[in-house]
Amino acid sequence: NNQNITGKVVVITGASSGLGEATARLLSSEGATVVLAARRAERIEALAEELNGQGGKALAVPTDVTDRQQVKNLVDKAVETYGRIDVMLNNAGLMPLAPLDQLKTDEWDQMIDVNLKGVLNGIAAALPHMQEQKSGHFINVSSVYGHKLGPDATVYCATKFAVRALSEGLRQEVKPYNIRTTVISPGAVATELLEHISDEKIQAETKGFVDQIAVPADTFARMVAFAINEPANVDVNEILFRPTAQP
Ligand code: NDP
Repeated sequence: NNQNITGKVVVITGASSGLGEATARLLSSEGATVVLAARRAERIEALAEELNGQGGKALAVPTDVTDRQQVKNLVDKAVETYGRIDVMLNNAGLMPLAPLDQLKTDEWDQMIDVNLKGVLNGIAAALPHMQEQKSGHFINVSSVYGHKLGPDATVYCATKFAVRALSEGLRQEVKPYNIRTTVISPGAVATELLEHISDEKIQAETKGFVDQIAVPADTFARMVAFAINEPANVDVNEILFRPTAQP
C-alpha cells in the first residue's frame, strides 16, 4: 500500500546514478512525480524519458548543487511545473577518501561544498515553498560515517556528522510548518561513489572490501519510500542501515 507516495512531487539531487537514480525509479513506479537533478544532463534526461515512457511523471533539471541559485531554480521549476513540492531529497554527495596529511585540500572543499553546502542549498530552496504550503518533507543523506570515524575519511565524516546535526536542528525548527524531517544513514551500497577516490591504493582497498559486502541501491530506495509512505502525522526522523556483514 503506497497511497502516501502516489501523486507526491519529489525533488531528488544526485539522481544521475546510485542511490538517487534507484530512488527515482522506485518512487516513480509507485506513482510519485520525480524531479531529477544532477550535473550530468544526458543521464537525467535519459532517465526522465525512460520513466515517462513507462507511464511515470519525471522532469530532468540539470543542476550543480554547489550553486545556490541553480538549486533555487530547480525547486522553483518543480513548483512551477507541478504546483508544489512534497519531498526534497538532498542526496548528492561524494567521498574522495584520503588521509589528511596528503593535503588534498581541493577535495576537502568539494566535500564541504557538495555534501554540506549542497544540503543547505536544498533547504534554502525548498523551505519557503513548504512553509507556504504548510506541508513538506526533507530527506537528507548522511552515512554510517555520520555516526563513526573511518580510516582516511575525516573530512567526509565531518560533512556527514554535520548533515545529521543539520537534520535534527531542521526537525526542531520546522514543527510550526508541519514539515517532516528524515535523515538516512546508509552503510556500504553498490554505486559509483568509490570511483572518485583519487588515491589508487585507497580506492583499490576500499573497493576490495565494499564489493564483497555492498547491498544494491534499491535497498536505500525502499527506506526512502518507507519514510514518505508513513501517514502525514508520523515523522520518521532517522534511519541507519548497513549490510549485515559490515562492522
Ligand atoms: P554516486 O557517485 O553513484 O552518486 C552521486 C550523485 O551525486 C551523482 O548523481 C552525482 O551526479 C551527484 N553529484 C555529485 N556532485 C554533484 C554536484 N556538484 N551537483 C549535483 N549533483 C552532484 O554515489 P551514491 O549514490 O553512493 O551517493 C549518494 C549519496 O549517498 C552521497 O551523499 C553519499 O555520500 C551517500 N552515501 C553512500 C553510501 C554508499 O555506500 N554508496 C554510503 C553512505 C552514504 P553528477 O556527477 O551527474 O552531478
